[in-house]
Amino acid sequence: PPRPSQESHDNDTKAPLPKGVVLDKDGKPCRTCTSVASWRALTRQATQSSSTPKTDSPTQSTTIATPVTASKSTPQPSEIPSDCPPDVEQLGRSTWTLLHTMAATYPEKASTEHQEDMQGFLKFFSKLYPCWVCADDFRAWMAHPSGRNQPKLGGRKEFGWWMCEAHNEVNRKLGKKEFDCRLWEERWRTGWKD
Ligand code: FAD
Repeated sequence: PPRPSQESHDNDTKAPLPKGVVLDKDGKPCRTCTSVASWRALTRQATQSSSTPKTDSPTQSTTIATPVTASKSTPQPSEIPSDCPPDVEQLGRSTWTLLHTMAATYPEKASTEHQEDMQGFLKFFSKLYPCWVCADDFRAWMAHPSGRNQPKLGGRKEFGWWMCEAHNEVNRKLGKKEFDCRLWEERWRTGWKD
């Protein structure tokens, strides 16, 4: 199986990659798969190691899928400049906004064509999402052999609930609190009841 490469990014070094840094399929650090906190640790490490001599070890082009977990040292969104490329968390928040809003504006009863369009969207989304480890896990969850996680596309209520469950699957993986799916419509469509 592929082994974590410690020598496959631009700043070749023998030091292990900081926790949470995920490499892309070309062996370079994947910014959209990594939190700002881990990215900063990586750039700090690169700065430190640039003053030490590099080795002649051959480079490998392997991929590491270090679990991406929420970190206590993660900077608050307000600490991250708004005009920087997104990290895994900012990308995630924006994407969940899009996905839940798509559910919130989904027809109460969807036509066959609408259902097919959404099926196609989810199929390509789960292949093309820019955090590849997130995409791989999301695709695997949807394709559970029992069929129980297949998108429920008949109408808004069932699709919104399904999206909430999909999001909760990621919340669980990251050790975050689960969201009460009975409240998804208030959160994403109608606004909170007084
Ligand atoms: P988010 O989880 O982004 O949620 C945004 C808001 O949605 C919350 O404030 C809450 O109001 C609401 N909410 C929360 N849960 C639910 C729910 N179940 N239903 C409805 N509304 C809800 N990050 C990783 O580090 N590793 C991964 O493998 C990973 N996989 C992802 C896969 C997908 C498909 C997506 C879209 C994102 C993924 N992310 C992953 C990003 C991750 O889910 C979060 O977006 C990110 O960690 C920021 O989290 P947050 O706590 O700010 O809130």
